Amino acid sequence: MTRELRLILGDQLDRQHPWFQQVDPDVCYVLMEVRSETDYVVHHIQKVVTIFLAMRQFATELQAAGHRVRYLTLDDPANQQSLTENVRHLCREEGVAQWSWQHADERRVEEALQALAQDPHGPPGHPVDSTHFLIPRADLDLWFKPQNHHYLMEAFYRRLRQHLRVLMTATGDPEGGQWNYDTDNRSAYDGALPWPMRPHFSQDARPIKALLAAQGVTTLGHCPDTLDWPLTPTEASQALSTFIDQVLVGFGRYQDALVDGEDRLFHSLLSVPLNLKILHPLTVIRAAEEAFYQGRAPLAAVEGFIRQILGWREYMRGLYWRLHPTEANSNYFAHDQPLPGWFWTGQTRMRCLAQAIDQSLQTGYAHHIQRLMVTGNFALLAGVAPSAVNAWYLGIYVDAFEWVQWPNTHGMSQHADGGRIATKPYIASGAYLSKQGDHCAQCAYRVKDKTGAKSCPFNSLYWHFVDRHQHVLLKNPRIAMPVRSWLKRSDADRAAVLATAEHHLAHIESL
Ligand code: FAD
Ligand code: SF4
Repeated sequence: MTRELRLILGDQLDRQHPWFQQVDPDVCYVLMEVRSETDYVVHHIQKVVTIFLAMRQFATELQAAGHRVRYLTLDDPANQQSLTENVRHLCREEGVAQWSWQHADERRVEEALQALAQDPHGPPGHPVDSTHFLIPRADLDLWFKPQNHHYLMEAFYRRLRQHLRVLMTATGDPEGGQWNYDTDNRSAYDGALPWPMRPHFSQDARPIKALLAAQGVTTLGHCPDTLDWPLTPTEASQALSTFIDQVLVGFGRYQDALVDGEDRLFHSLLSVPLNLKILHPLTVIRAAEEAFYQGRAPLAAVEGFIRQILGWREYMRGLYWRLHPTEANSNYFAHDQPLPGWFWTGQTRMRCLAQAIDQSLQTGYAHHIQRLMVTGNFALLAGVAPSAVNAWYLGIYVDAFEWVQWPNTHGMSQHADGGRIATKPYIASGAYLSKQGDHCAQCAYRVKDKTGAKSCPFNSLYWHFVDRHQHVLLKNPRIAMPVRSWLKRSDADRAAVLATAEHHLAHIESL
């Protein structure tokens, strides 16, 4: 007899949750592969394969530990292909008195589960808190006050570091006397550190690739027969320790670097196990902190890395619950253009974009500066509709889940919320991209040229953006200076740059 059915979502593979601390024969755990999740956006094939593989592994582990588990594969004849319909069906079939779930991290899913739980004709359900973030869901209002209009990552980060006592001295000061070591970080790659060693994992993707093909699931990108993501706690722990020992030393220093032909640089590649909740953020933070205290990694690298996880990751998740869905359709710059078709092929002569997009299609991964300053920057300068940009980012990355993808894309990258998440639009011309990397040397366009058909499109598009949004940009002290310098240029100079931008925009599909 089953007393309670407990739904485990595909991105909630947290072995440490209190649910699993004891075996209860009257509880049945259910995991399901469903079309409602494979189809709500077109996903990269590696994303779907990775999540299903990780779910199957988790179900096997639970069973081996003595828990009762029901696993619905995508082709199970009993599968109703929706999370809620499956819960309804299974409760009826097994005569279950109640069901429960850990609060979903995506609003879309949480609302569907809440609606089922409150349906008088449905089985009674109740949520429990998840334990895989640093701040419980119920406490988010204390950290992100509803009455605030703007939120500041830096203030949030300092408060949370104090609260959790991360990199803090006994007297309550930040370790090393500073909160931020950005001035020591963010160089271009100069070869001073060799490319680090990485562990390799080898997940057999073939059965799930065949399943997706047989079921007619539409996906994007490529998928080799074996995948290289850490999908179990043991593998995640191996990935973490190799990162700490071999890679962290160069993290901050090369965090914003772009290198032709190098897709990982000194990044951790931990977002997938973190977002599937195979790896807890505090485990990662404490491991990095320990490396500093043991003299194995410099403070600037460790602080820079911890800032990403304790700071940006938790901040984005908090703002997702604060601003979504109220801001979901905001469009501050009224951008309405489609994404150029080469975002799905990588077939562009702009080397930096071709590399970032091709790599994303091949691997389902791009590092932060590629997402923010290459693809995101281009989409913003070219006036692409935020909804189109959001759909692309939500689909293409293996680590993409709306709670972290949306604030990063809509807010940080496209500034579509008018600055509620980030204090300025992240825009840059070719000069920045050339300073941070070496793509330009192999590009069909000339980074130093501002005008003409051969000029780097980022250059004129940057000023085109500044020109068309000058009135709102002038009100933002963080970006007003380049606007004023643009307005001081001669009419002829401005007209030549704008004409070049118009030319590039008119030929955007063949850039
Ligand atoms: P590292 O560079 O090694 O950073 C370490 C960890 O810090 C990451 O694993 C991640 O958990 C966290 N982190 C770093 N930056 C951010 C950030 N801005 N927001 C939240 N967490 C951060 N991250 C996702 O996890 N999923 C997404 O769907 C996603 N979409 C993005 C879309 C855009 C337009 C932009 C600009 C950024 C996006 N990010 C997203 C944030 C960041 O780019 C990725 O977390 C990072 O590239 C993942 O690679 P990594 O694990 O090697 O990260
Ligand atoms: Fe990118 Fe412009 Fe450099 Fe080409 S010249 S790689 S388009 S920044």
